[in-house]
Amino acid sequence: MKMPVKFRTYCPFCRTHQIHEVEKVKKGKTRGLNWIDRQKARRGAVGNRGKFSKVPGGDKPTKKINVRYRCTVCKKAHLRAGFRAGKFELTE
Ligand SMILES: [Zn+2]
Repeated sequence: MKMPVKFRTYCPFCRTHQIHEVEKVKKGKTRGLNWIDRQKARRGAVGNRGKFSKVPGGDKPTKKINVRYRCTVCKKAHLRAGFRAGKFELTE
């Protein structure tokens, strides 16, 4: 998919719509996975660990893309949940 480098979207710091600059980042941090890590640790290492015994599947055909949105007014950046796309391009 193609995405413009600058576009107007909601800024959670200004609480209004502002022009944002798009930056591609390697890893998103919007997913809170800490609770499942703790649940996994509670099961111990021996025996059937229920849903944690599952073998992970193969690679998905597309990779998740994580994008950082930087507000041009307050200069703060925020993340949103990543999305899947085969190709990702930034357009002017
Ligand atoms: Zn802002």
